[in-house]
Amino acid sequence: MPLRELLRLGQLPLAVHGEVLFSAPAVAREEDSLLSVCIDSRECSRGSLFFALPGARTDGHRYVQEAISRGAVAAVVSSQEDPLSGQEWAVPVVCVQDVLTALHQLASWYCKTHLAGPVRIGVTGSNGKTTTKEMIASILRCAGPTSSSFGNLNSETGLPLAVFQTDPDARYAVYEMAMSNPGEMEVLADIVRPDLAVITNIGEAHIGNLGSQEAIAREKKAIASRFDGPQRLIIPEDDPFSAYLREEIPGEVLFFGMQSQKARLEAGENPGAQRLFVDEECYPLPLEGAHNGRNALAAVAVAQALGIGSDCVRQGFQTLRLPSGRSELLQGKNGGLVLNDCYNANPESCIAALETVAAVHSERQRRVHEGGGRLVLILGELAELGAASIPGHRRVLERALSLEPDLIILVGVADQIGPAGTASAWDGLEELEEIALPPGRQLCRFPSVQEALAGVPPLLAGGETILLKGSRSVQLERLLPELLDSM
Ligand code: ATP
Ligand code: MG
Repeated sequence: MPLRELLRLGQLPLAVHGEVLFSAPAVAREEDSLLSVCIDSRECSRGSLFFALPGARTDGHRYVQEAISRGAVAAVVSSQEDPLSGQEWAVPVVCVQDVLTALHQLASWYCKTHLAGPVRIGVTGSNGKTTTKEMIASILRCAGPTSSSFGNLNSETGLPLAVFQTDPDARYAVYEMAMSNPGEMEVLADIVRPDLAVITNIGEAHIGNLGSQEAIAREKKAIASRFDGPQRLIIPEDDPFSAYLREEIPGEVLFFGMQSQKARLEAGENPGAQRLFVDEECYPLPLEGAHNGRNALAAVAVAQALGIGSDCVRQGFQTLRLPSGRSELLQGKNGGLVLNDCYNANPESCIAALETVAAVHSERQRRVHEGGGRLVLILGELAELGAASIPGHRRVLERALSLEPDLIILVGVADQIGPAGTASAWDGLEELEEIALPPGRQLCRFPSVQEALAGVPPLLAGGETILLKGSRSVQLERLLPELLDSM
């Protein structure tokens, strides 16, 4: 697809409140088009605008030259970096106080000036944002041209990029909006100013940075912080924080859930599918898990709020494609089944995945002719929980044990192993030493996925039902090829 003009070079300094510094004899003109926005120099191409963001591991200012050589026609840099010292850039460089703030300002300017047309829908929540966003986008695509970034562009750096990728001629634009620190959601809400906002649930993701679930709820609620009357907020009917979320919203509040939508969920005919009934309409869902039933209800609530009919909802679910690692059912070579849910994890999403794999396993056992096989739970540690880490891991382990699996495998994060070999967050659970499993059941621990790669396959006999679930940093997906070969 040919790139569109996002803005003219001459508009940039005003939009980011910056000062233009020309060093080398610049041939740039005010009317030159900027075609894309990049924060990674390797992704720059002809016509890109490069933002030199400081990062935890490196600093974008080191890559300005590379961005230019790949075709960037302008760069936004920090005035703290003394960007012109000893350098001669071949393109105009816009100097700002803070590069991330400038990225937000430009995204906000772009939304106001170019994206007034599409109905803007923002999705936040502790769990299920990507899933729910993909469901909503898939339904809306049936009703009209829809823009939505595939995957997880949801953060203070990702959301602006999703905004620049939006087609101004779309009828609907769907955004995933996430925060990991206080104050971030308000910034994102200020950029997107959603007409319709969804909060999927309030859990414990990022509680290490935010301190409490109350603080998480306050932060998620900030998705409505730019409401001024005509906007609508869709929230769960049965979350412990629902009453708080609905309070003092300057707009309409709608609920999703089994009761509010007169809905029920039934098992599908084959593994990997369910049937969702809403007001007696039947929607086949190509996903397992009660939590995905709730995500689907949130998407149905969006469709209803926008006056979109049941045929589009049905088609949207039918054509749904999720990025990998979320509720993905994969067949092993020897009759086994893996629920690959290892894109990321926190206590609630682990428990949702445990309940899902238990349902899949008992359904397989019920169909005796398929064999059933053993239940194996491979659980990676949960990151970013701070003081909630031990209780969070304990809750997950207790739930895992209650399913009476044949084998539990606990995996840590390689680069967090201490010099004394104190491995993963799982090792903080003292009770692990005392767990006495009945004969035939087993619990194994691996300090990292590297050790698990060698240790897990010999434990498998074939035909198992396996859950793969852990935080992103554990990289459990590296086990997949070996697992699929062995089971
Ligand atoms: P991230 O914060 O990493 O972007 P996300 O909120 O976008 O995550 P998804 O990628 O949709 O969430 O789903 C991640 C995992 O969370 C799923 O694989 C599933 O285990 C779990 N999950 C999804 N929806 C729910 C839900 N409504 N309640 C609890 N857990 C859920
Ligand atoms: Mg996501």
